[in-house]
Amino acid sequence: MFLVLGLGIHQIEVYNVVLNNKEPFKIATETIAEIHNVVVKIITDYGIIGWGESSPSQRVTGENAETVIKALDKIAPKLIGMCPLCIERDVELMDSIVKENPAAKAAVDIALHDILGKTARKPLFRLLGGYRKEVLTDLTLSIKPPKEMAKDAQKAVKKGFKAIKVKIGVNPAEDVERIRLIREAVGEDIQLRIDANQGWTPKQAIEALTKMEKFNIQFVEQPVPAENIKGLVKVRKNSPIPVMADESVHSPEDALHLIQAEAIDYINIKLMKSGGLHKGRKISAIAEAARIPCMIGCMAESEIGIAAGAHLAAAVKNIQYADLDSDLFLKETLVKEGGAKVKNSMRTFPKLNGLGIKALNEQLLGKPKKIYK
Ligand SMILES: [Mg+2]
Repeated sequence: MFLVLGLGIHQIEVYNVVLNNKEPFKIATETIAEIHNVVVKIITDYGIIGWGESSPSQRVTGENAETVIKALDKIAPKLIGMCPLCIERDVELMDSIVKENPAAKAAVDIALHDILGKTARKPLFRLLGGYRKEVLTDLTLSIKPPKEMAKDAQKAVKKGFKAIKVKIGVNPAEDVERIRLIREAVGEDIQLRIDANQGWTPKQAIEALTKMEKFNIQFVEQPVPAENIKGLVKVRKNSPIPVMADESVHSPEDALHLIQAEAIDYINIKLMKSGGLHKGRKISAIAEAARIPCMIGCMAESEIGIAAGAHLAAAVKNIQYADLDSDLFLKETLVKEGGAKVKNSMRTFPKLNGLGIKALNEQLLGKPKKIYK
């Protein structure tokens, strides 16, 4: 390892990738059909290639593919010649060049971690802590009429999923009906968690969650708007179901703030909010010190971003839940070989180094939009 520390990042390529969902995905605040992601390829001057991906969310971090490419245009030239393994320093550099833009930084951070694993010749999760060998993920149900969602839940169980995340947050009475029918359809052994995506008021949340108590729900994600921390505190105090922050926590600083406010029981870490694995680990460490378990979630990443999330979830003890399913909704397969495939709800890792991405669909990837060297 020490021999390569003097060597640097040789070239960075940036790709625009458009992917489609098999069917439009509906949550409380938006419906997503077409996905514009950005793939980053970093080549070191000792010949190792790292893959990273950005799946920006206008709704959550105010980013889109265009802003990601703009941010990378400022970041990438300054990274050339930098040590790819000095991730703490590389992240500091990125933060000094552009503020915010976490999804853009995540693409670079993920590629650097891929390089870290390949340089050490180990799967990434082993280098970052190696706590578990596989990761149980849920499958998320898009918002539909209650009876249709109950059927979708049954289909998910038939496919082998042991945990289901249910999108709600539209109409509290209908949301309760959704959960009642879904629990009835899947039986008692399936883990159910729900995500209101900021869709309720604190009062609506407390009422709906109280009615849902008997359906054995693990936790509710983001019951009220992200900035309504007082509302979160109120819901947490009065809800029989534990509260998880998603949209309210992007950074390690946000995590500390919400923990100090006693606003949450869990945190949903997403690499696209935190700026990648490096800061995702910091969020988990802060949360662990406060005995707040974490989940790893996703935006609309393909297999590259999902593999990164799965490696982090496998590595870290305090990341006890995973909602890593966005690649399963995609019509196209960007990663032809490798990645953290899912079977019977479990994400497992191939015997490959780094992220374990072996081959990409070159046609989908297309030509680089930008090359920096
Ligand atoms: Mg969420």
